[in-house]
Amino acid sequence: MALLKRTAFAGDLRETDIGQRITLAGWVQTIRRMPGRLFIDLRDRQGIAQLVIDEATQPALYAQASGLGREHCLSAKGEVVRRESANPKLASGEIELIVEELQIHAPSLTPPIHVSDDDQAKEELRLKYRYLDLRKNNLMNKFRVRSQLYRTIRNFLYDEGFTEFETPILGKTTPEGARDYLVPSRLHKGKFYALPQSPQIFKQLLMIGGADRYFQIARCFRDEDLRADRQPEFTQLDMELSFVDQEDVFAINERLMQTIFREMKGLEIELPLKRISYAEAIENYGTDKPDTRFELLIDNLDEVFRQSGFGVFRTAIAEGKTVRGLFVEGSESYSTKELKNLEKLAKTYGAKGLAYVILDEEIGGSIAKFLNENEISDLREKSAHKSGIYLLVSDTKKVALTVLGNLRNQIAKDKGLYSSDSYDMLWVVDFPAFEYDEEEDRFVAQHHMFTAPKPEHEALLETDPAAVMANCYDFVLNGYELASGSIRIHDATLQQKIFEVIGFSEQEAQQRFGFFLDALKYGTPPHGGIAYGLDRLTMILTDTDNIRDVVAFPKTLAATDLMSEAPSPAEEIQLEELHLSIEE
Ligand code: ASP
Repeated sequence: MALLKRTAFAGDLRETDIGQRITLAGWVQTIRRMPGRLFIDLRDRQGIAQLVIDEATQPALYAQASGLGREHCLSAKGEVVRRESANPKLASGEIELIVEELQIHAPSLTPPIHVSDDDQAKEELRLKYRYLDLRKNNLMNKFRVRSQLYRTIRNFLYDEGFTEFETPILGKTTPEGARDYLVPSRLHKGKFYALPQSPQIFKQLLMIGGADRYFQIARCFRDEDLRADRQPEFTQLDMELSFVDQEDVFAINERLMQTIFREMKGLEIELPLKRISYAEAIENYGTDKPDTRFELLIDNLDEVFRQSGFGVFRTAIAEGKTVRGLFVEGSESYSTKELKNLEKLAKTYGAKGLAYVILDEEIGGSIAKFLNENEISDLREKSAHKSGIYLLVSDTKKVALTVLGNLRNQIAKDKGLYSSDSYDMLWVVDFPAFEYDEEEDRFVAQHHMFTAPKPEHEALLETDPAAVMANCYDFVLNGYELASGSIRIHDATLQQKIFEVIGFSEQEAQQRFGFFLDALKYGTPPHGGIAYGLDRLTMILTDTDNIRDVVAFPKTLAATDLMSEAPSPAEEIQLEELHLSIEE
């Protein structure tokens, strides 16, 4: 039997289609049996329309449809007519299709989840039956947005003279600070490929190879303990440009973002974007990825409390620690119980406690009785004489700022300090090149080891690595680090020196990156680039905070695929071929 081919979409049908003879194709959403009549809600990629089969006029069709159930797949041909009683919940609610011909393509088992936007099924079940979950139009539409994003990016970058490349998945380590996924080699006993943590080295080699402007929508793999917003494999928009400085990278990326938001959200982003230094971000927002949709800056209160009657603060400051505060307007904004909850949250970020002072006509709060006139008038001045609550943390600078940085986000959420459809983006610049890793007792690269130090700081590499700043940058949107990049080292001697600072012996550097050090010696152009987390960007564009909503076949937090049950054991013969044995 010839396929009954679709001529229209169910979800697109409107009153203007009345009188048309059309064919729809899709799945049974629901089926209602009335005496002598069958109503089928048919779902396709655009939405739902009602089909009607009348027993009296169409007995054969009625019999054919009698075994239909949810998620059976079919085509139906018929005439669009006005519905007797309109359904205002459906976009096609004014019309229905009087079926004249029915082709049932495939029955369905009873679906274990409800293919509907208000489905309450547990996420585990949804992931196990992902192919059914994907039939939900509000989920599938997120992938359409994702695809549209790729198209926008590609069009923009092609027009700007970029070439799209593919770099190897089976390669040598490309460190970005995570653990590698390794693939054992069959042909080379005891040797392994590493899956790319990013295409970093390859894109730099492409610059050496004269590609000039490269981009790739690249899958990256990092074997880390997963957090809620991470997947072990994820997608970057990766780019690299030759003969550029930081300003050039910013200019093109700002226009890219402007284009994406214009085309996908109808929003006009004003350029140039704001920039703040890493130091300023940490000091004011307690994080290097500040959410700048709202103010709520962290205050340094050391001068207020240096001589405090509150011993905890006085001693902390005398010991070189600090007191930092966040002022929340409105003395009633948090109840004592809510403040206790905030304190709990503060403790999860390492605070020993959360003190607070309520500034109103009267003074109140956990430490009010210890404070003298001067401290109170200083606090009033800092808070512009408004009534409100000062939340205070005394600790090392790092802990105090981390705690308040996180409270700041929570408070903004609690108090609705921003609207969910606002987008605030900025560059964070002037990062330190290295961070001291206490556990490993060595310096590690703050961005990655191919990042160029600021030229005026190169001399400090040997004497004071901690003071060296790098030519690297982060692109931050609504408190998410959406992209990061840098100007790269294009000189083998300097690259070698960086390897030394982070503790690689010459031999080790040679063994791991010898090929790259060699390549750098053949007339390497100055170059720089950036990489965006595309899963994250899609989340923002589709308004979801669940990364699994924008990955078609995602993994769980335990890095498993509940549908295919990956990872799974290998056959004995496969292990043998790979020269592996599993220890019990
Ligand atoms: N490769 C870097 C990363 O994955 C991005 C870059 O420096 O371009 O974070």
